[in-house]
Amino acid sequence: DNSGVAGKTFVIGTDTTFAPFEFRDSSGELTGIDMDLIRAIAESQGFEVEIRSLGFNAALQALSSNQVDGVIAGMSITDERRQIYDFSEPYFESGVQMAVDQDDTTITGYQDLAGKTVVAKTGSEGEAYAKSIADQYGFTVNSLDQSATMYEAVKSGNAVAVFDDYPVLAYGVAQNNGLKTVTEKVPGGSYGFAVNKGQNPELLAAFNTGLAQLKASGEYQRILDKYLAAPQ
Ligand code: GLN
Repeated sequence: DNSGVAGKTFVIGTDTTFAPFEFRDSSGELTGIDMDLIRAIAESQGFEVEIRSLGFNAALQALSSNQVDGVIAGMSITDERRQIYDFSEPYFESGVQMAVDQDDTTITGYQDLAGKTVVAKTGSEGEAYAKSIADQYGFTVNSLDQSATMYEAVKSGNAVAVFDDYPVLAYGVAQNNGLKTVTEKVPGGSYGFAVNKGQNPELLAAFNTGLAQLKASGEYQRILDKYLAAPQ
């Protein structure tokens, strides 16, 4: 039953550049796994979406203050976030990893970070993880708002390493972004679509129904394969 959402338009916040989940294609259109998923679910459940590419932390703030109806942004389902947001069923497994400049031979693990600066995204699981081990390994965490800026900081030498989600780092490395990963993956929360707590329950239900249908029809797998299957 999708009567609660049919014909409605929902404003959805997302990250700026978090390929392959959301990014701009060569013609400037927002594309990626999250964009394909939310658009396919909207179509199948009969609602419209207006996507706002706000940045990760800004999207979460916008959700908290009901400036947007939902967020899809490679957003990990965590116990802390469950206090303030309601999440859909998980749709993608993720976690955190550390990457350095591809030519850097001096940083091979956390033990080489003493006295150094690393970057992570404001409000992210990567930031929380980096901060959780910063004292133990003696490094400083500089928080930035966008993955693209974080990678630039590492390539320009303003930071020696970046903590980000491993599917995103792997995709960027495969696209020759100039980085390489050097640590084991730290399993984190799976990605979920979020609404503000107690708000838009019908949107959340429609997302779950649509996701289940996309999985059953094979369309979910086709969307993943489109971005992840063959090297470009
Ligand atoms: N998955 C991470 C988190 O939820 C990062 C998300 C992002 O940077 N878009 O914190």
